[in-house]
Amino acid sequence: MKYIIVTGGVMSGLGKGITAASIGRILKNKGFNITAIKIDPYINIDAGTMNPYQHGEVFVLKDGAEVDLDLGNYERFLDIELTCDHNITTGKVYLSVIEKERRGDYLGKTVQIIPHITNEIKERIRRVAKKSGADICIIEVGGTVGDIESMPFLESMRQMHSEEKEEDIAFVHVTLVPLDTQGEQKTKPTQHSVKELRSLGLQPDAIVVRCKEPLLADTKSKVALFCDVPVSAVISAHDAQDIYNVPTLMEQEGLSDYLMQKLKLTPKEASHEWDELMGKMASINREICVAVVGKYAHLEDSYISINEALKHAGIECGCRVKIDWLDAETFEKNPDAVNMLKKYSGILVPGGFGVRGTEGKILAIKYVREHNIPYLGLCLGMQLAVIEFSRNVVGLKDANSSELANTDHPVIDLLPEQENIRSMGGTMRLGNCEAVLTEGSLASKLYGDNHLIERHRHRYEVNPKYILQIEAKGMRFTGRNDHRMEIAEIPDHKFFFSSQFHPEFRSRPGKPSPPFLAFVKAALD
Ligand code: GLN
Repeated sequence: MKYIIVTGGVMSGLGKGITAASIGRILKNKGFNITAIKIDPYINIDAGTMNPYQHGEVFVLKDGAEVDLDLGNYERFLDIELTCDHNITTGKVYLSVIEKERRGDYLGKTVQIIPHITNEIKERIRRVAKKSGADICIIEVGGTVGDIESMPFLESMRQMHSEEKEEDIAFVHVTLVPLDTQGEQKTKPTQHSVKELRSLGLQPDAIVVRCKEPLLADTKSKVALFCDVPVSAVISAHDAQDIYNVPTLMEQEGLSDYLMQKLKLTPKEASHEWDELMGKMASINREICVAVVGKYAHLEDSYISINEALKHAGIECGCRVKIDWLDAETFEKNPDAVNMLKKYSGILVPGGFGVRGTEGKILAIKYVREHNIPYLGLCLGMQLAVIEFSRNVVGLKDANSSELANTDHPVIDLLPEQENIRSMGGTMRLGNCEAVLTEGSLASKLYGDNHLIERHRHRYEVNPKYILQIEAKGMRFTGRNDHRMEIAEIPDHKFFFSSQFHPEFRSRPGKPSPPFLAFVKAALD
């Protein structure tokens, strides 16, 4: 097993996750099997209980793990499926060490950060890497070097460095070269962050430098000199047009050759899939504009997988999908504002929790249903479509979800198995579940099959008591898992498709998600 450890310096938000995923991709393009691990030094067991407004989207894996959005980047860039073990947090590490202590596994010993916590970290990494069967395991250490929380993880990396053979482990440090007021590239922050890294006993093999414009030769030499790496190991990671251009950029900078040399790897059979994708992206010559009506309208990171899934579908159709992020509360304050929706080629309502903005989303859904504008509803976006239809077509004026209000007509209600659950972490209906599709439905056409598997994250569902009443008025539940409604569509509409699951999580560049592809096609029409 070869390990590539990616650390970050200077500040957060430099795109360490994209860098780690891109490093994986350029090596995958050389024929290697890649897996990836994200270390998040926070105390939370997982991202499931965190606010997407602060931490970005909660990504859901096939096994139901609720994880950091970077795992989504790994899955998309590397076209792999990961599990909960690929996201290591301080919470998980301490929880298992404390459980072992209570069980008596360390009997007689004082349990300490070194060696017990660091051993637990290393064991987890090695176990996951081995189980994956990959040739190379990329490990991204979240946070910025110098943070108190990441210390035990960086110490574990230091120990791994001395335990593994020199050719089996490489360190890549991601930093920033800012411009001064005269527009000159400044290397001091990078020098300082490498100094900090060295004080922990770690020396980077390569430095990936984020910057606005390509790094000048002089700047590269300076970084190389002060940070003690060859000039060829200083990689200019200047702003790219799109995140999917980053691997190509790193390849051009020579990073895969450098890493293969360091890790004594000879390339296997090259794959050209990524180049083909780049070719398709370069030939895009049309643009459509869709609106996402959400709660965190000014924070794209909260809906990153939706953004990517729309992009994947767009690439397939040869068009750029421009997204306007609309705040649902605007429509609550001013219901006439929904008229602005007519300028969009399609409207998407994403998943969400809590009542804020839901009445605004319902107004938006009413507008698109009545004006035959393509609609894609995801999870809460399906539940609200059912509520809107029940209120305005079926005639149940106070129809609502029991998550959102006390009502006589809870057309969306708690899943029966959720009734006695009080604890919040990891307790929803999560991960891969199957749905059986109605023959001849839009759903079965999109998936080209009579069943599907998609990822879930919800506590509420369509209340089975109302199904006949709703279907009698023209909304159809064309995907089902036993008594659970997985898909709601309106056959009379130009394109009205909504799902209880989140198809965005399984979308990949080059393999767009079927509902997203059909939505973009309908929008193009
Ligand atoms: N809040 C809704 C539920 O729990 C929808 C969840 C979602 O959109 N992910 O069922």
